[in-house]
Amino acid sequence: MNVNQGMKRAEGLTIVVPAFNEASGLPALHRKLMQLTARLRDERGLKCEIVYVDDGSRDDTFAIASTLPAETADVQAVSLSRNFGKEAALLAGLDRARYGAILFMDGDGQHPPEMAEKLVSLWQDEHYDVAYTAKANRDEEPVARQLFAKIFYRVLNFNARAPIPEDAGDFRLLSPRAADALRQMPERNRFFKGLSSWIGFRQIRVPYQPAPRAHGASNWNLRALLGLSIEGLTSFSAAPLRIASLLGMLLSVTAFLFGTWILFETIVLGKGVPGYPSVVVGIMVIGGVQLLVLGVIGEYIAKILSELKRRPNYFIAEASLREAGKAENSKPREAAE
Ligand code: UDP
Ligand code: MG
Repeated sequence: MNVNQGMKRAEGLTIVVPAFNEASGLPALHRKLMQLTARLRDERGLKCEIVYVDDGSRDDTFAIASTLPAETADVQAVSLSRNFGKEAALLAGLDRARYGAILFMDGDGQHPPEMAEKLVSLWQDEHYDVAYTAKANRDEEPVARQLFAKIFYRVLNFNARAPIPEDAGDFRLLSPRAADALRQMPERNRFFKGLSSWIGFRQIRVPYQPAPRAHGASNWNLRALLGLSIEGLTSFSAAPLRIASLLGMLLSVTAFLFGTWILFETIVLGKGVPGYPSVVVGIMVIGGVQLLVLGVIGEYIAKILSELKRRPNYFIAEASLREAGKAENSKPREAAE
């Protein structure tokens, strides 16, 4: 994989659009992107390309993506061999990009193309390397989810040298050197929000409110969110391990004090065999905490294992490229990998 790694990319902007079962909304999004790229071309002389990454959809996302007209920008359609998840789809787009700068944008229309111009201006006019959007607020979300997000970022950034900005989304623009830096990250386990702030350079936050989904349903459920959270936590922070040690220490101290008290009671106060409850409670607490801590350690070991295996993050099944202004190269072809 990484066919395009190390290659010198042309000056311009690649818009990477991950799409999982987005067939119904893709044509509308494409029209908007064509308008966007036409404006970027006319106003800034910026060459653009759109890469649709079909992440193993069950509908005809790829078929549609590979027939969308390449009017004002080149269009690539790439289909992964199965559903690898959004992070892998983003990586595939990053690898396939033929232009230097990268704009990540969801395929469900929730990321307004109009805002993309603002991001481009931050990059070109103000020389920022990473312009990332972040939710302005979470007021419309369920309270439990808000609370979950709060705790997640608290733990994630506990003691971190390069804190990951709260509520940052995947809708972001990377300058060529930032995109190159991202490609150099060797790890298998990808958490783009974290990685793209970890690389440094000049970063800027752009608050926005995502539009409601126009069609289809969000592909995230509680399990997927929990999965990504654990992924993010264990990739970027040793805080859970540290919290585990702290918890262990706290329990040991408590147990020591409690033990001293029991000895004092038996020897000095002369009380007989009292505390059946205290024994049971003690055993349960220690057992529970040990299981919890083992689980935390297990997460990190699983991570080490998957890094060791060095498996590719995705495989490409099919790919097509149409260049703007050229009519006849629209046939999907097998990827040469
Ligand atoms: N997506 C993907 N692979 C997946 C799940 C999602 O490529 O396994 C894409 C999806 O098509 C969309 C983007 O990732 O373009 C964000 O997904 P979604 O809208 O479900 O998430 P949300 O907007 O709720 O965070
Ligand atoms: Mg969405």
